[in-house]
Amino acid sequence: MKKIQNYINGEYTNATSEAWLDNYNPSTGTVYSKIPKSASEDVALAYKAACDAFPSWSNTTLEERSKIMLRIADLIEANLDELAKAESLDNGKPLSLAKAVDIPRASSNFRFFGNAITQFASEAHESVGLNTMNFTLRQPIGVVGCISPWNLPLYLFTWKVAPAIAAGNCVVAKPSEVTPMTAYLLGNILTEAGLPKGVLNIVHGTGPETGQAIVAHPKIKAISFTGGTATGEHIARAAAPMFKKLSLELGGKNPNLIFADCDYDKMLAVTVKSSFANQGQICLCGSRIYVEERIAEKFKQDFVAKVAALKVGNPLEADTNLGALVSKPHLEKVLNYINIARSEGGNILFGGEQVKVKDHEDGYYLQPTVIEVANNQCRIQQEEVFGPVVTIVTFEDEAEALQMANDVKYGLSATIWTNDLNRTMRLSKQLDAGIVWVNTWLNRDLRTPFGGMKDSGVGREGGFEALRFFTEPKNVCISYAPSI
Ligand code: NAD
Repeated sequence: MKKIQNYINGEYTNATSEAWLDNYNPSTGTVYSKIPKSASEDVALAYKAACDAFPSWSNTTLEERSKIMLRIADLIEANLDELAKAESLDNGKPLSLAKAVDIPRASSNFRFFGNAITQFASEAHESVGLNTMNFTLRQPIGVVGCISPWNLPLYLFTWKVAPAIAAGNCVVAKPSEVTPMTAYLLGNILTEAGLPKGVLNIVHGTGPETGQAIVAHPKIKAISFTGGTATGEHIARAAAPMFKKLSLELGGKNPNLIFADCDYDKMLAVTVKSSFANQGQICLCGSRIYVEERIAEKFKQDFVAKVAALKVGNPLEADTNLGALVSKPHLEKVLNYINIARSEGGNILFGGEQVKVKDHEDGYYLQPTVIEVANNQCRIQQEEVFGPVVTIVTFEDEAEALQMANDVKYGLSATIWTNDLNRTMRLSKQLDAGIVWVNTWLNRDLRTPFGGMKDSGVGREGGFEALRFFTEPKNVCISYAPSI
């Protein structure tokens, strides 16, 4: 059976303990590879490699760093087919999605930050009349930790490690133990691209063991984490006494506000995607649909008809719209939420049942599920499900829509469908969300800030925000004699 290995100091190695975890193929429900069960001694080895590489990497010219990163981007692109297939098998997502989105974006992450670092500038402040000049050095932090989730495995892993190394840091990184395969395959690409040994070290294992060891390591001074809100809270508690810099990208329960004056056909097509892309396992999915009463009946009918036409099936088949959920425990969690919704009086308009896919009977498949809900306070409206489940609630006017949209603990993203410019501005300013999309969804320009408010996170990634996170600003104040 295939054995995934850690990538430490430019070499593939087993965990020191030689212990292994099972890795499942969600589309068949079978174990298909083994993952090193790394512990604190493996994180210590990765830290040492990163620490040894830091003096040289942080002094490598921007041009050279950029060149290596662009080579990594090219190699990811060149290996698109292999990586996309690996991502699909590891995660359960449709191969077509991995090919069109996940792997191209992983390449773009390296390309974007490889270019961005050459344009990253710092500020200078002349104190006129005091004869002092201030300038800000933006120095790499040293060794940083990056921890990523399973929903967009290589996409989110590279979204963190690329800005970290672009800024001159060395990294100890851990992908999710649920989807370790593409981060493992990345090791070969890093070597081929000529990334110096120790700059990026990849350690596999569970969150409570390997992830915790990264967070607890006293010399790893910054942690960039994407994952669940409860894990983020745990990491924040562990990191606070050591005054670590933290970037936390956490859960969401994003509202999708549909007004009667919107471009209806475009809204309908995009709302199907924003509800069910990647089996609804995108932190930005619009899991709470609020629709204006005037068009609610028509919307429900049209939406359910489109959802009913989606094909749940083998992720490798070209016409599959929804593949498998990522794991058995996750499938059980989502099914449990559907039962909770039922018991709370939710009306299942479509779905709610597991799907048996031919020749893949043990895979973790679920129908896309649409639930009409009367009460904004019930659990299905308030808690993150992170699966192919969307709720529909109607509203009378803008004020009611805004009130319900903001009435959750999360604040990651929001979508508004309207052609009223004034409403667009009013709502964009008042919605509790780090990202607002108007008449679109998941449209990303990598220069823009990305992150959440409230329990959806702390800090922003993207563009120079990420480079600012991964550098320490140091002000230098020089006093000079104005005359000779
Ligand atoms: P998770 O929190 O269970 O795990 C995320 C990562 O953290 C994994 O690598 C895991 O091994 C590690 N981890 C777990 N416990 C840890 C600990 N005690 N110390 C250190 N590391 C630990 O999340 P998940 O189930 O993999 O991902 C789903 C969640 O991620 C959802 O809540 C989703 O909304 C969120 N997410 C957020 C964004 C965003 O940008 N805001 C993007 C994608 C996913």
